Amino acid sequence: MFLFKSIALIPAAGMGKRMGASINKQYLHLDGMPIVARTISVFERSPLIDAIYLVIPAEEIPYCREHVVEAYNFSKVAAIIPGGKERQHSVMNGLRGMSEHVSDGDVILIHDGVRPLITEEVLRESIEVARSHDGAVVAVPAKDTIKSVKNSIITGTPDRHTLWQAQTPQAFRYSVIYSAHQAAETEHYLGTDDSSLVERTGGLMRIVQGDYHNIKITTSEDLVLAEAFLAFAHKERIHNV
Ligand code: C5P
Repeated sequence: MFLFKSIALIPAAGMGKRMGASINKQYLHLDGMPIVARTISVFERSPLIDAIYLVIPAEEIPYCREHVVEAYNFSKVAAIIPGGKERQHSVMNGLRGMSEHVSDGDVILIHDGVRPLITEEVLRESIEVARSHDGAVVAVPAKDTIKSVKNSIITGTPDRHTLWQAQTPQAFRYSVIYSAHQAAETEHYLGTDDSSLVERTGGLMRIVQGDYHNIKITTSEDLVLAEAFLAFAHKERIHNV
């Protein structure tokens, strides 16, 4: 038994405009279940996770409570917290919202609400790494050659062997991620992920190799891809029994 808890923080307070749907994309169904509910269910089912904090746009909280948390009986959801303007603000709202219920050494797994295809194995490894480093970042090696570009002109081709695509979850001890967010807020730094906030304070972050199917569903093509990945996983399970 660990002395410290493992807590999921799920930012799901984006407005989901890129999908072009009339409701927030995260409530669209993926194989019969709202995307965000499918994401939460991975954490709800896992014995590794003690509690879940959701961050939702303030005006959507009643809808989310009724159609997601109550509809699927998610008993680990400890609070639904209003989001902020950018993802980073939403995460900080979540960290502040849980502050009275967590210890400095508890591991916080920050995971996008629109990445429903995460596996428990990856959660397990992320928690282990976050206990021995400043944090863990689930990532996959870049398959394509990546260019840096300014005004349509290529300014560099970083060696692909050193490039990884960061996903979520990203896991940290509470004290580490809270102070990194606090520093970023004070210094008006806006990053595109949580790890970058810890990196800039000199933190030692380690990669956890994830899966290419752990996609972020932001466009309607992504939804088609996610359906295909689910069907593939289902077929594999049938073959392996
Ligand atoms: O912005 P992006 O598409 O990368 O969103 C990643 C995750 O962050 C999504 O689950 C989204 O709902 C969440 N987010 C948030 N608050 C915002 C913007 C995005 O919680 N202001």
